[in-house]
Amino acid sequence: MSTSELKPCPFCDGIDIRITRHPGAGRGEHHGEDVYSMGCYDCGATFPNRYRGDLLVVSWNRRAPMGTCSPQVPHTPAAKWRENGEPDPHGSSYNCERAALPMGDMTDDELANAVFMHGNERPSLAEMMAGKPMPIAYLTAAKERIRWLSRKLMEAQRGATTGEQQ
Ligand SMILES: [Zn+2]
Repeated sequence: MSTSELKPCPFCDGIDIRITRHPGAGRGEHHGEDVYSMGCYDCGATFPNRYRGDLLVVSWNRRAPMGTCSPQVPHTPAAKWRENGEPDPHGSSYNCERAALPMGDMTDDELANAVFMHGNERPSLAEMMAGKPMPIAYLTAAKERIRWLSRKLMEAQRGATTGEQQ
């Protein structure tokens, strides 16, 4: 199979990406079908196996590149209403201290980690009775934090622009 259409390895930028066909290695509902594996022979990174080689290529190439803070990444506005000069749809709701937000005792990083760890959990009834927060509590806190941070970012950028003009 040609690998010239493959993007470089997202971990090491290596181009020695190889696809291997394993005839008849399928299991379960794909019993007896060919299986395709894929990996970077420069750094050893591997990719989940697939039952179709062409899908493997598509999946590999679809992955987001590492280092998205590069200047080539196109600009995304923090809020479209702001970009369009429209008023804040939430008024002054977010004109408060971080501590006043849900889970306001967590730092931004701690909240981000908490959402990653707990945002998709299914607590048992016993855990809920014991006071373990439901996933929606973390998701709500993250939503509020993002909106709050977005407005703080605008204030900071506005302050920086004003400073330059003086
Ligand atoms: Zn690699």
